[in-house]
Amino acid sequence: MGTQKNAYPVLNYGSGSKWIKNLTQSRLSTFTGGHFADVNLSSILFTHRIDGPEFVSLEVWSAPGLTKPLFDEAIKQKFKPAKKGDSFGPSWVSGGPHPCINLLNCIQTNHWWKITLNIPREWEKYERVQLEFDPGCEAMIFSTDGVPLQGITGGYGGDRRVEHIIPPHAVRAGHYELVIESSCNGMFGVPWNGDTIAPPDMNRYFQLASADLVVPNQDAWHLMWDFTTLRELVETLPGNTPLQNTALVTANAIMNAFHSGSPSDVKAMRGLAERVFGEGWAEKGAGVYEEGTARASVVGISYCHIDTAWLWPYHVTQQKVARSWSTQIDLMERYPEHRFACSQAQQFKWLEQQYPALFTGVQEKVASGQFHLIGGSWVENDGNMPSGEALVRQFLYGQKYFESRFGKRCETAWLPDSFGLTAAYPQLIRDAGMKFFFTQKLSWNNINVFPHSTFNWVGIDGSQVLCHMTPVDTYTAQATVGDVNKGLTNHKNLESNNTALLVFGNGDGGGGALPKMLENLRRIRATTNEHRELPPVSMGHSVEDFFGDVERDSEEGKSLPVWKGELYLEFHRGTYTSHGSIKKGNRKSEILLRDVERIATLATLFKSANSTYVYPKKTIDDSWEKVLLNQFHDVLPGSAIGMVYDDAEKLYAEVRKDCTALLEEAFSVLIRSPVSLTPQSKLGRPSELLAFNTTPFARRDVAKVSLVGNGKSLRSTLVQVSADGTAGYALMDTSDGGNIARPVGMFADCMPASVFTNGSDHFVLRNASVQLTISGGRITSLVDVKLGRELIPKGRTGGLVIFEDRPNYWDAWDVEIHHLETSTPLEFTQVRVIAEGPLRAAVQTKVKYGKSTIDVTISLDAITATLHEKSRSFFKFDAKVDWRERHQFLKFELPLNINSNDATYETQFGHIQRPTHKNTTLDAAKFEVCGHKYADLSEYGYGVAFLSESKYGFACEGNVLRISLLRSATAPDADQDQGPHEFSWAVMPHVGHFLESDVPIAAYIFNSPLHVRYVPGGSQESISAAAKPPFWLEGAPNVFLETIKRGEDDDFGPNGTTRTVILRLYEAFGGHAQVKLKVAPRVHVTRAYTTNLLEDHKAELQVRMAEGEGDRNSALLNLEFRGFEVKTVKLVIGNQRPEKWDSWVKIDEDHDTHM
Ligand SMILES: [Zn+2]
Repeated sequence: MGTQKNAYPVLNYGSGSKWIKNLTQSRLSTFTGGHFADVNLSSILFTHRIDGPEFVSLEVWSAPGLTKPLFDEAIKQKFKPAKKGDSFGPSWVSGGPHPCINLLNCIQTNHWWKITLNIPREWEKYERVQLEFDPGCEAMIFSTDGVPLQGITGGYGGDRRVEHIIPPHAVRAGHYELVIESSCNGMFGVPWNGDTIAPPDMNRYFQLASADLVVPNQDAWHLMWDFTTLRELVETLPGNTPLQNTALVTANAIMNAFHSGSPSDVKAMRGLAERVFGEGWAEKGAGVYEEGTARASVVGISYCHIDTAWLWPYHVTQQKVARSWSTQIDLMERYPEHRFACSQAQQFKWLEQQYPALFTGVQEKVASGQFHLIGGSWVENDGNMPSGEALVRQFLYGQKYFESRFGKRCETAWLPDSFGLTAAYPQLIRDAGMKFFFTQKLSWNNINVFPHSTFNWVGIDGSQVLCHMTPVDTYTAQATVGDVNKGLTNHKNLESNNTALLVFGNGDGGGGALPKMLENLRRIRATTNEHRELPPVSMGHSVEDFFGDVERDSEEGKSLPVWKGELYLEFHRGTYTSHGSIKKGNRKSEILLRDVERIATLATLFKSANSTYVYPKKTIDDSWEKVLLNQFHDVLPGSAIGMVYDDAEKLYAEVRKDCTALLEEAFSVLIRSPVSLTPQSKLGRPSELLAFNTTPFARRDVAKVSLVGNGKSLRSTLVQVSADGTAGYALMDTSDGGNIARPVGMFADCMPASVFTNGSDHFVLRNASVQLTISGGRITSLVDVKLGRELIPKGRTGGLVIFEDRPNYWDAWDVEIHHLETSTPLEFTQVRVIAEGPLRAAVQTKVKYGKSTIDVTISLDAITATLHEKSRSFFKFDAKVDWRERHQFLKFELPLNINSNDATYETQFGHIQRPTHKNTTLDAAKFEVCGHKYADLSEYGYGVAFLSESKYGFACEGNVLRISLLRSATAPDADQDQGPHEFSWAVMPHVGHFLESDVPIAAYIFNSPLHVRYVPGGSQESISAAAKPPFWLEGAPNVFLETIKRGEDDDFGPNGTTRTVILRLYEAFGGHAQVKLKVAPRVHVTRAYTTNLLEDHKAELQVRMAEGEGDRNSALLNLEFRGFEVKTVKLVIGNQRPEKWDSWVKIDEDHDTHM
């Protein structure tokens, strides 16, 4: 054997102890920033830094008040000199009285800067020269011709982005000009004292902290990113893995090698990092993703969650969109692997309107495949409260927009942040042309951990979507080693599929990916090309690539688990109630729009030959867009700041005004000269009362009619007149199921309502169907008179109740389980009789609580809830509240003599059952739930439902059914729900279990009051022509005709040739149905199709002639439904007019001569 070089020495006089690993690990925190910033790596990050007017010349113009001029207008203004260090503000305008005489002079929110840079000649030699502009707030950089270049996030948070790279040609020229708009809000608005959800500080000032020309030491920056990745590896991986130890040894060696920070030092230190990242990794750039595994476990996609309004109003969001998206497009230039996924058609539309040059840039990046369209909806809406039809419109308006502007639709539904997701969704997502669904919010559950990451989500009707809830548990990942690692370590279905989506980039307030995130991911991938202890991450793919891979890998989902029903968020349960006015605005607008579409469609079908009436598509679309916008997941839930609700209320007011006008216009096409009922109404001679029924149901209603002024002439048609003679009650009948209800006398089957009192504290409202007793201020008895059955357990009472409402943190969002331990029953006081029957009996009561007053009128009519044979009457509660409480929760409750494990709640296009018990923590977690128009507790043979016309929060605790009425959080809106409210609910006993009941129909009617009008006498013929419904259903009472509208692609011009009618039907009880859809002879159906929600044809339907008695010349379509199925039918209407039209035309001519 020869002598070996470097042979193991014989002698050892050294000390050589094992290292103290934790001290070495702690040491890593001292290499950047902190106490040693002037001597560590941070000290060499910039080679040069200069400021002052010689190099950076600044001029500013401040827009008055809250105004937000766009570039073209701002640039024309008179700018004045400014300097680094100047302060500007304040943030927003306070709601209260302001001390300044001229608000516009005193408050300045948006500031425009003209910046001229003189760049030293000798800087030409550097790789990069930057402007560092830090106004402490958000800002937007424009080119001098108005093209948005990138956003700025000032301040020193983790989302700081203050650098703008000066193009090399400008550095060579030594001259560069920019325009910057800075806005007085941070990424998360201007929360008071910096607590995220505190109400905004309207008086915040900001300071221009930096306006410097800098030369970054690029090698030092890269070294910092190297070191960051190494440190994350050390801190993320288990201590006994080789990679963790290698990373620590390497990072430690880098620190030891940092002497003067000279270029050669830095080069050597970067070389050390190759021990972990692999030799020559940096030169490969995005090429690192081409090496190593072909199938990465973690798929990285950049995303930027921009809450469409939250701690800032809509108009600030519009700026956020431009800032964030321009930044991402800019990053794509330097990082070819960067793919950016973006949702919410509304935000694209704002960009198109306000930043057209940037919008063109987005279109180019969509075409090149770097900018990805996801979600398919108008906004990332709340997933609980929008109606079924509203969810349809979220997708219809969203997908239509994407298709019209980008030539493609989205394939993945995307609601990462919505506060729970209705079980109606899988069907709607599939029918909107998508099969994948992404969310993650359930990782916020505060009771149970949701058991799946990748699964088949199956809705109430059995439809499924492929759902992924990222195991990374966030949609704003920072792309750290920990995030990537969590993609596998927190994955709950590795037995079925071992891939995860890493959705990274700053969000909520926008921002998106930072360069450091893209740099980190390259290093992480390079590491996994060399080592096996960390899951490999891929870049450059789409969300659809990810889902497509899961679909294949799981044999089209066969090997994945199934989650059936809603994705209930065990958190934020107060959002079904917070901001009552918004809930009401939403419900009323949805129903008003449904009525407008229905009546306007009828008007286009039945207008006279010489009528110029045109379907008001544009106004309908505009109104829907406003309603859909307000359904954003921090607006409708009530979790935004007060300013947002000022805007939202304005939008609802516009919808109400515009749609009411449309409705009147359409009514007057159908019936000659209908007049609304007000004391000022001018009535013709003689006039009569009628009402439009905009539901598909036959019904009877009691309508209250004002008898003031001209109304007196109607007295004879009324069954009952109030004691003071100012109002009367008419019984309106449309028991034939038609469009027009007319006043009738009491029927033989009416049950006169009455009220008895002992004159002090005992009141009984009663008819032959039901009876309610209020005694000592509480509801002590509810009786089904026909059965003689008492529904309130002995010794118990019902009524209003107050709970202490102090959640653990998220005030407007959360009501916490412990609120149930603090119940205070309230008493109805000052009860007095205000209507004695026979048509309506009613008492008025007052409840005083704290500083609030709650006036409730409880009434009972002589009719049943619906025309169903066994239907009972309901008790209606109309509340007028002056609400002055803080952190109190007002509910109404009834303990019921009914025993069931489940209660039933209406959801979109159907219903859902939730437990009434707390057997498991999954059951206990559902102590407050979302319902739409009804909630029901039934046992075999009997049940009681609550009907609701604007409230969405319910609970059933054992046998106590509750409806949630008002909350009073103080963050982020300090004055949430303070002031006046009006709302109604009803208590409806019913024979038979819910499934055999008429509750869904009663709730539908309860939400759709008749539209009562006066019409001139002698319009009998025109009324009977309009009264008959053009479309009706036979043979399946469980199928509802929800929507009647004109087709999206119709030609609406005066001579329009394409005429289609869209009908949306659904099965409402959860069972199969075969239904006959009949079309009146007046409507000439040439062809019929089933379509998806986007109105694409699915199949042609056979149109037959109906053969039944009275059906002569009616068209017939046979439709089959599975339980809860939603079906869209498109009828193509021909121009050929059957004989019957003649009489209608004549009437209209008659009408013209009367004008
Ligand atoms: Zn959000």
